[in-house]
Amino acid sequence: MENKIVCTSCKAQLTNNKGSTKFKCPKCGQHEIVRCESCRKLATRYTCPKCEFSGPN
Ligand SMILES: [Zn+2]
Ligand SMILES: [Zn+2]
Repeated sequence: MENKIVCTSCKAQLTNNKGSTKFKCPKCGQHEIVRCESCRKLATRYTCPKCEFSGPN
C-alpha cells in the first residue's frame, strides 16, 4: 500500500524522500509533519492540523 506524502507547509507531493523530513508534531505527538526540501531551506512555517501548533522546527 502506497501513501501519498505531501508537504505539510506547501502541499507539494513528495515523490521521494530526498531532502525532505517528517516527524511527529512536537506538541500533540499525533500528527506527522512533513516538510519538503525547499520548505526546510526557506524555513517555511508549518501548522499541525490537529492541534494548530506551528513552528519552523
Ligand atoms: Zn514544502
Ligand atoms: Zn499537533
